[in-house]
Amino acid sequence: MSFSDLGLAEELVRAVAEAGYTSPTPIQTQAIPAILAGGDLLAGAQTGTGKTAGFALPILQRLMAVRRPASPAPRALVLTPTRELAAQVEESIRIYGKYAGLRSVAIFGGVGIHPQIATLKRGVDILVATPGRLLDHQQQHTVDLSKIEILVLDEADRMLDMGFIKDIKRILSLLPKARQNLLFSATFSDEIRALADGLLNHPAMIQVARRNSTVEIIAQKVHPVDRDRKRELLTALIRANDWVQVLVFTRTKHGANRLAEQLTKDGISALAIHGNKSQGARTRALAEFKANQLQVLVATDIAARGIDIDQLPHVVNFDLPNVAEDYVHRIGRTGRAGATGEAISLVCVDEFGLLRDIERVIGRVLEQDVIPGFEPDLSIRPEPIQRSRGAPPPRSTGHAKNGNARAREPRGQAVASGQRGTEARRNGPPARGPRTGASSAEGRRGSGNRGG
Ligand code: AMP
Repeated sequence: MSFSDLGLAEELVRAVAEAGYTSPTPIQTQAIPAILAGGDLLAGAQTGTGKTAGFALPILQRLMAVRRPASPAPRALVLTPTRELAAQVEESIRIYGKYAGLRSVAIFGGVGIHPQIATLKRGVDILVATPGRLLDHQQQHTVDLSKIEILVLDEADRMLDMGFIKDIKRILSLLPKARQNLLFSATFSDEIRALADGLLNHPAMIQVARRNSTVEIIAQKVHPVDRDRKRELLTALIRANDWVQVLVFTRTKHGANRLAEQLTKDGISALAIHGNKSQGARTRALAEFKANQLQVLVATDIAARGIDIDQLPHVVNFDLPNVAEDYVHRIGRTGRAGATGEAISLVCVDEFGLLRDIERVIGRVLEQDVIPGFEPDLSIRPEPIQRSRGAPPPRSTGHAKNGNARAREPRGQAVASGQRGTEARRNGPPARGPRTGASSAEGRRGSGNRGG
């Protein structure tokens, strides 16, 4: 199967070939013909499956088929939950639309509104936006949504997680009634189904493998280590293996800052991105990291959402996430679209309960590998995991509002790989520890990384 077999125009096929794509991914094979046919679509697909090209290519083609002079009233609207995702989706549209002769723009909060107003005035065909900033433009009458022909809700589950439902409904009320609607979501909670029921008209339905199956190609390893020696171990691993482009996750913004500073002192170039950093600082850090000028990017879970870097080789969990499903999102940053990657977790005695939760979610026991010189001191007593100020109340796996859908999904392979893991675990300390009731420190809502 090739991109031209899917009915795509030569201009688009040429652009994807130049982007290095040789054949469509499963979501693209299914979504492209469905969208070209003009109907609504409900797609279950996560970041990393190639979903952006899955909707961007057929949208470009549909707009190319009936050309209109670019005007301040865009013809296609893509809503995304985060600023980073908006920027990345628009960048992808520009790459795929290199020869399409259409104009696109991303508008999101955290940066000045005036350059966006000027760009909109010059005329735009495809608008990629976060809900908050789009409504700001609407209130200032600097965007006209009355000519939208195609609407995409990208990562709809995350938009609801982040509390955007009211904004989305307000935006929907501003759009023309006759339009094509495409909804992409990684999970399907009752809330998403209700949104889809109200929005979509006899949609085609597509479901591609969730990332848990991509997870199979990612080498995952746990290094047991003492709480106070994690930074030393990380530095040693980076130096010994000459790692470049290492994405490191911490639980808190403060932890991210401190770790980036310490690594810098160790002579390893590192920057932190999280909700308290300005949009400019985050964009700069990400650009340096992508360009391989920065060895380590330290991120909190929310700040890392939507980061899309091809074939990121190393993801390190400096702290395990409090919500087990976040582990899957974190390690999905490596091993994108078929590339292999390595995910490493530095786990101290406080985190064994969290590790067990993660192993339950991914359906396998992770291999433990004690690094010589960093053997954990088994006399150290576990401590409860700290919550940072302003964090929401504890969110337990399986009872969270939108976590239900994830928690219900199949676990797979638990028995077979569990045996392998038991052997591996003999090398490490026993997986005992207190269960902590701590919650995501950066929170699900109201983070600085909201679309704004
Ligand atoms: P997405 O799920 O849209 O975030 O895409 C994940 C990654 O896969 C991006 O880095 C894309 O550049 C890449 N990608 C998308 N489609 C293809 C394809 N057909 N072949 C190879 N890589 C792709």
